[in-house]
Amino acid sequence: MEQDNLSVVLHSQGDLRLEKRPVPEPGPNGDRVAVEPGVPREMDEFFKNGRYNLSPTIFFCATPPDDGNLCRYYTHSANFCYKLPDNVTFEEGALIEPLSVGIHACRRADVTLGSTVLICGAGPIGLVCLLVAKAMGAVQVVITDLFPERLAMAKELGADFQLTVKRGDGPQQLATRVENMLGDQPHITIECTGVESSIQAAIYATRSGGVVVLVGLGSEMATIPLINAAVREVDIRGVFRYCNTWPMAIAMLASGKVNVKPLVTHRFPLEQAVQAFETTRQGLGIKVMLKCDQNDQNP
Ligand code: NAD
Repeated sequence: MEQDNLSVVLHSQGDLRLEKRPVPEPGPNGDRVAVEPGVPREMDEFFKNGRYNLSPTIFFCATPPDDGNLCRYYTHSANFCYKLPDNVTFEEGALIEPLSVGIHACRRADVTLGSTVLICGAGPIGLVCLLVAKAMGAVQVVITDLFPERLAMAKELGADFQLTVKRGDGPQQLATRVENMLGDQPHITIECTGVESSIQAAIYATRSGGVVVLVGLGSEMATIPLINAAVREVDIRGVFRYCNTWPMAIAMLASGKVNVKPLVTHRFPLEQAVQAFETTRQGLGIKVMLKCDQNDQNP
């Protein structure tokens, strides 16, 4: 980047001079923005058709070899910075990233007014799918998990039914329990565990003609009831991150349609990043927030 700041300056009428002026530092009212971490590097076919998340050469913060942005100062493509309205906090801005996974998953699943939805897994990703599905008009949402405390959070966030799964529960048995809760099979299942038995349950549970979206990323090979899905025309769709979601996410937050604040259960200053990651690794709480600004450690 140029280190000088060539400027055309009008000193007085008829006295126009070219001057090298210092590069200004952004002041306290530099825009407040949320950063979309995936920035396409090439104008390839995926970029051109709007599905830039699929571009094989995309830059993505913190996916090796690309560094992330857990630092105090960071530069990013302006096209992938989105101005935050005054009533959206920085923490909400940071939560647009996981919220975007939920938006993309619900779009891929065609969630709409009146949809009934099964969400497998009540981790952060299952919970953002829940928030978005409800905001998009899902009338009834069943959510599953192994842990009651995660299901309690899901209930707080608007899940209509919670299903506790025990390791070893059969997938068809789980599907029947979901149907009994709703009185019918769900139109849509959003799988957010990546666990093979849960993917199996997702397929069995979904109504004929419905959609299963696979958000959870487990082992590369999985045994699934593919023919059951095929003969019932249950579409199985993948989800890879997100694209074109930040504007919708900001609108959801600014309007109050979606409240992501309860997702943050822990906060650490940047200096304690190792401890923060350990908290996440141990599965404690939901979202662990790292506060990069020494002068702003508040929610
Ligand atoms: P997480 O591990 O915190 O949550 C997963 C939840 O699933 C946990 O609460 C766990 O108890 C529950 N679970 C495990 N086995 C289960 C079972 N058999 N039945 C029901 N619930 C079960 O993870 P997360 O951050 O919520 O992410 C969820 C998944 O989404 C991960 O696999 C992650 O890699 C994936 N992910 C995918 C994308 C994408 O672009 N496709 C993006 C982000 C995350």
